[in-house]
Amino acid sequence: MLYPPIYLDCHATTPVDERVLAAMLPFFSKHFGNPASVSHFYGWEAETAVKQARETLAAAIRATPEEMIFTSGATEANNLAIKGVAETRFSRGRHIITVATEHNAVLDPCRYLQSLGFEVTFLPVQRDGLIDLAELEQAFRSDTILVSVMAANNEIGVLQPLAQIGALCREHQVFFHTDAAQAIGKIPLDVEAMSIDLMSVTAHKVYGPKGIGALYVRRRNPRVRVAPQLHGGGHERGLRSGTLYTPQIVGFAKAVELAIAEMPTETERLIGLRDRLWHQLSQLEGIFLNGHPTLRLPGNLNVSISGVDGQALLLGVQPVMAVSSGSACTSAKIEPSHVLAALGLPDALAYASIRFGIGRFNTESEIDQAAAGMIATVRGLRE
Ligand SMILES: *Cc1c(COP(=O)(O)O)cnc(C)c1O
Repeated sequence: MLYPPIYLDCHATTPVDERVLAAMLPFFSKHFGNPASVSHFYGWEAETAVKQARETLAAAIRATPEEMIFTSGATEANNLAIKGVAETRFSRGRHIITVATEHNAVLDPCRYLQSLGFEVTFLPVQRDGLIDLAELEQAFRSDTILVSVMAANNEIGVLQPLAQIGALCREHQVFFHTDAAQAIGKIPLDVEAMSIDLMSVTAHKVYGPKGIGALYVRRRNPRVRVAPQLHGGGHERGLRSGTLYTPQIVGFAKAVELAIAEMPTETERLIGLRDRLWHQLSQLEGIFLNGHPTLRLPGNLNVSISGVDGQALLLGVQPVMAVSSGSACTSAKIEPSHVLAALGLPDALAYASIRFGIGRFNTESEIDQAAAGMIATVRGLRE
């Protein structure tokens, strides 16, 4: 047994990179000022740090600094985008288009809006997890106000065709929101080239701290208005009140800066590790890859295994590695993941699935140990 187990759950969260932590530390007790304190040195210090971080983050997605609204994470950013646009555009229309495989932080605000009288189309996905652009095209109505399609899926890693979706939204004059929580720092994002109007991002999936994220809100061509969901001191141009969390903001920017600088080499390395893992696991009979084989996040592998019990599989591998499975315990009863169900997987295969999230600190030897642990567990269960 290996203790602690190998961490392979980087879609859930990632450790804070030491370089990120080092950048954050001075802002807890030394440069502790409130960036909104405009009358003294302590405030200016913090404000300067926040300004620099905002510039770095904006440049990372080719936005301008004024277009970045800091939030507590991607959940809040998604809520602000979806409910905020619904509130400002309801007189124009009450129809929203999203996708069945979205994160609950998109699906739940959409369901909430349904309860208020909005209509939501939940587009299906194809067997590989990608949406069908022709189906999206057909879903547009004269009263459609928003399309929300995620950049990269948190379970199967599938990358949706953002630029094509953005172009269709432009054609129909509908705002395009994307949840890029899993995508920032992992794949190139460009709000201009991809015609993105709103984008949710978060730090803790990219080796930054938990509790900080941002919503990009386009200011021109077209100008997008969102209604604030938190009212108070009027921070963030009135769109999100609350004292800015300087250390987290500094860490967020550092994390994204590092991830983008290292993206070319890291992408190649992660694809190498992922292919190595898949190559070894495919010795097993009855193992299936979930999601598109190449249009996916470099560090993502999601597999289903026939003829084994999902819970037994997860318990069996737990001593060796920290991974997630495609079954979520909601209120004591186990349900198959809505993402795997949307791919058309039968329940048994959805239960018996493992999501590997390979990250910056994983090594080849860890991948080999994880593969061996998984193969031994499956063979043991089948005997
Ligand atoms: C993690 C995640 C979220 C939630 O982000 P938080 O910053 O933890 O609120 C939303 N969407 C996707 C796709 C995610 O992976």
